[in-house]
Amino acid sequence: MLYINGEWRHSLSGNTLDIYNPATGEKISNVAYCGKEETREAIEKAHDAFQTWKQTTGQERAQLLKKVADLIRENGEEIAQTITKEMGKPITEARREIISGSNYVEWFAEEAKRIYGETIPAPQIDKHLMLVQQPIGVVGAITPWNYPLSMVTRKIAPALAAGCTVVLKPAPSTPLTAIKVFECFYKAGLPKGVVNLVIGPAEEIGAELTSNPLVRKITFTGSTTVGKKLIRDSADTVKKISMELGGHAPFIVFEDANMDAAVEGAISTKFVNNGQTCICTNRIYVAEEIAEEFGEKLAAKALQLIVGNGLNESTQVGPLINEQALKKVDSHVKDAIAHNGEILCGGERMEFSNLNGCFYKPTVINHANDRMKIAQEETFGPVVPIFTFKSEGEVIEKANNTNYGLAAYCYTSDLGRGLRMMRELDYGIVGINDPAPIVTQSPFGGLKESGIGKEGGKQGIQEYLEKKFVSILIG
Ligand code: NAD
Repeated sequence: MLYINGEWRHSLSGNTLDIYNPATGEKISNVAYCGKEETREAIEKAHDAFQTWKQTTGQERAQLLKKVADLIRENGEEIAQTITKEMGKPITEARREIISGSNYVEWFAEEAKRIYGETIPAPQIDKHLMLVQQPIGVVGAITPWNYPLSMVTRKIAPALAAGCTVVLKPAPSTPLTAIKVFECFYKAGLPKGVVNLVIGPAEEIGAELTSNPLVRKITFTGSTTVGKKLIRDSADTVKKISMELGGHAPFIVFEDANMDAAVEGAISTKFVNNGQTCICTNRIYVAEEIAEEFGEKLAAKALQLIVGNGLNESTQVGPLINEQALKKVDSHVKDAIAHNGEILCGGERMEFSNLNGCFYKPTVINHANDRMKIAQEETFGPVVPIFTFKSEGEVIEKANNTNYGLAAYCYTSDLGRGLRMMRELDYGIVGINDPAPIVTQSPFGGLKESGIGKEGGKQGIQEYLEKKFVSILIG
């Protein structure tokens, strides 16, 4: 169903979209599939709702958002099952997403009360100068399938907390989770028009969101290619933009690192969500003298990972989202082999007699080199190459040799080196001996072609506020 102006709706055409479980290939549901007319209506209703929503106090918005966070938690198991069924991640990871996704809502409920302005010292005594912060207006939000709950709440919660209203377009493979979140908005009693959900063809809905002058802000998480298009399309109406785009994370292991911790860290940053996370490790750089031992240990651990249907409690790695994703992963592996890469484990599709999904064996490639595609492109799957390096300067140069700049990881027991790496790595997120740097409090966002702006943390709400300068002549 669509959700427009506080009502659950079918599309005007009656068109629907079938939703499939990527682990089994089975159809699990179908949802209303709309186009630009419904999107335009949703924008207009969001604009109407903005006129009253912006007049509410932070306290009032906080109370409603707290209810939403509670409702997500109360319905957590049902939403987690939905996440796993529609995009495949292990149920244990889907439950973790319930925690992170609801935490974002609670965090921004609190931040709604802390939208401060500034008083500016004036150059003359008869003037009073101020900077006030106000909600920007209607927000068009477009989200990916890989974190179908937390990518939605990490955008909508700060927007609502700031006093904005929203039209969301979720990814076509994961609308069911978005619908569940909107049920929580509905039950919490958000005024009609404040949040709206449209599901339909990406280009058509995207074109309406980016061209409609009533939309004042576009917030997007997804691939760099689509992000660039949305930036271009938003230029004509000069919208504010936030872009959370692709990544190509380096994972650097120095000779003085705690080897076992580094291996564990590499496993978790690579194979979480089956490698389909923007901050997933995509390239491992290991100091030459410890590279063989590291590779053996990593492959041994990767071989132990339990691959299967995410609904099984013991599954650690689920299916890829679709056949196209599997083909890309396999092409990176084949290309690596053609460039003299050695497969330490995996390297091929995985078949199950009772599952019709896109499974790929967790794969570690040794003797990687810069001629391989995987050295430059985001793989978005359970494959990792191991490169070697001789010096700190060399690895910094290699790690930074990409247009991406989202997340980087570094393992060392030398504090000074850790600090130098923090300074030199051109990435928006750096984990030093920490494979899981992201928490609700983190300002999440990339440098270079990985994005613009921050989500989460105290910075997240700023993306939905405008600063207005006011000068009062006292007389
Ligand atoms: P995608 O860019 O294909 O799709 C993302 C969203 O954009 C979907 O809702 C899709 O329907 C929509 N979309 C596609 N074409 C569009 C168009 N022309 N106009 C408007 N909307 C359009 O990406 P994906 O495959 O869903 O997600 C994977 C990508 O997302 C990876 O590159 C990953 O790194 C990135 N990602 C980034 C972050 C981050 O925070 N930086 C988080 C998660 C995923």
